[in-house]
Amino acid sequence: MTVVQTARTELFIGGKWLPATDDRRMNVIDPATGEVLASVADATVADGSAAVDAAAGALAGWSARAPRERGEILRTAFDLMTERADELARLIVQENGKALADARSEVAYAAEFFRWFSEEAVRIDGQLRMAPAGTNRIVVLHQPIGVSVLVTPWNFPAAMATRKIGPALAAGCTVILKPASETPLTALAIADILVRAGVPDGVVNVVPSRRSGPMVSAMLHDPRVRKLSFTGSTEVGRRLLHEAADCVVSTAMELGGNAPFLVFDDADLDAAVAGAMVAKMRNGGEACTAANRFYVQRGIAEEFTTRFAQQMAALRVGPGLDDGVRLGPLVNEEGRTKVRELVNDAITAGARLVTGGTVPSGAGFFYPPTVLADVPPSAAILQEEIFGPVAPIVVFDTDEEAIAKANQTEYGLVAYVYTADLTRGLRISERLESGMVGLNRAVVSDPAAPFGGVKHSGLGREGGHDGLLEYLESKYIAVQW
Ligand code: NAD
Repeated sequence: MTVVQTARTELFIGGKWLPATDDRRMNVIDPATGEVLASVADATVADGSAAVDAAAGALAGWSARAPRERGEILRTAFDLMTERADELARLIVQENGKALADARSEVAYAAEFFRWFSEEAVRIDGQLRMAPAGTNRIVVLHQPIGVSVLVTPWNFPAAMATRKIGPALAAGCTVILKPASETPLTALAIADILVRAGVPDGVVNVVPSRRSGPMVSAMLHDPRVRKLSFTGSTEVGRRLLHEAADCVVSTAMELGGNAPFLVFDDADLDAAVAGAMVAKMRNGGEACTAANRFYVQRGIAEEFTTRFAQQMAALRVGPGLDDGVRLGPLVNEEGRTKVRELVNDAITAGARLVTGGTVPSGAGFFYPPTVLADVPPSAAILQEEIFGPVAPIVVFDTDEEAIAKANQTEYGLVAYVYTADLTRGLRISERLESGMVGLNRAVVSDPAAPFGGVKHSGLGREGGHDGLLEYLESKYIAVQW
């Protein structure tokens, strides 16, 4: 039996696997073939409310559990996820399309959030200070914020879920997870793991839905919901910020990116090309952290472009589960159309196609690794999130010019800098308008570090100790003794 045949496909509410109240189901598509992979219950507004009932009912019990017990349940979830890593990775490939190696790294990364937050659960601290007037003590407690709604995207179906569930549970909150409708199977598999790890009924609820607008809106207008943690596009994030404002719900927003990748002429070229391959092609370019614009200093631009394009062209493209495949299909036809249009627009505007650029015939949403050089500033590809295996390259002359170009975007999630001069690298990093910088390093994601963006890339941080604070509220008690 394949992993899909044994996958959970019902809603998970109050510890029970249930169909939608109106029995509607939605198809999950395999992006490598375009065929239906599974059919999953499609939650209604009433199902969303039932999930809030369950999470609200479980809140007092869960938040009163000893932090050590909450931590140990999360630690067991880490162990179980690690044991089932291969099965989970294959499930991710089937519903998302990414190459198996990418899916394996995602599962390892995702499981780490359970381990990291199992350790953070026992490190929820407070403060004790004397008031400046000397009249009383200031005691500050950190208490769980309450019922949390978690909305996640399809590009990292496991990691975006655990990056939210881990800290929420560690803090003593209960949650309702609304996974992307493209990739609900992984989220349901994670719910199954959490149940086996000992998470009590109602603490974690999962409601896949194609009707997410009305369902999430109703949840955000329920006064029992106190937190919204969203990862997805800036466009949807903005809409949800408006919704959250009505009931003054606390929000954490991990939104889109448009990462610049800066290569200075003193950089180790081997490292820069290897870094470019990772920063661009991890997850097939479907990552908010994906390098979206390459700015290369004139002295090395030609050599960098040639070597990078050679490595891109050598990548094996095919169904993610096939041996040796490094690049699977894009998630759907819509994603592929967007990538194709951005490439065509850049070429019309004057960009030079170095490799790729031709959509293959046949089934599946494949797009080849593509490099564009001499991309003019007017091209939309430099402004919009590509979310595909395409690297536009622009040449620059001075550090000032590189910084100005890198900051010329509404986004500010991550930037990459390659230079052999660490002083120069740090000076530039300080001036880049982004929440994170990879300095001679193409991967910044780390469960132990605060992940997040500035400008239109988001609000708040996930991971590290900051990730836990998102699910805690400060209570100040003025004490006289
Ligand atoms: P999306 O915004 O279309 O969807 C994200 C989630 O929101 C999905 O679960 C979707 O079903 C749901 N949704 C859509 N409309 C909604 C509505 N009106 N009300 C409530 N929920 C709604 O994003 P996507 O296409 O799934 O993911 C890609 C985007 O996610 C990219 O922009 C990417 O940069 C971003 N992303 C950001 C991070 C980060 O940490 N900053 C990480 C991964 C992905």
